Amino acid sequence: MPIYEYLCKDCGVRFEVLRSIKEADSPVSCKSCQSNQTQRTISVFFAQSGSQIIAGGNSSGCAGCAGGTCSTCNPN
Ligand SMILES: [Zn+2]
Repeated sequence: MPIYEYLCKDCGVRFEVLRSIKEADSPVSCKSCQSNQTQRTISVFFAQSGSQIIAGGNSSGCAGCAGGTCSTCNPN
């Protein structure tokens, strides 16, 4: 479940909320002043976790090759 970052227009505080993608655009109250005047900002965490899933999909390779074909993975 991604973390979304919200910005409160009333007090200017930024805060993160863990919620599902379906709930991402639904209103959330400010954790500091309880205002409903909040807007979602770009979630850097979500973008990073997405790329990590892609990078971690191939567990047989190393950083230097696509999958067990270089001398680091396959010294013999
Ligand atoms: Zn606030």
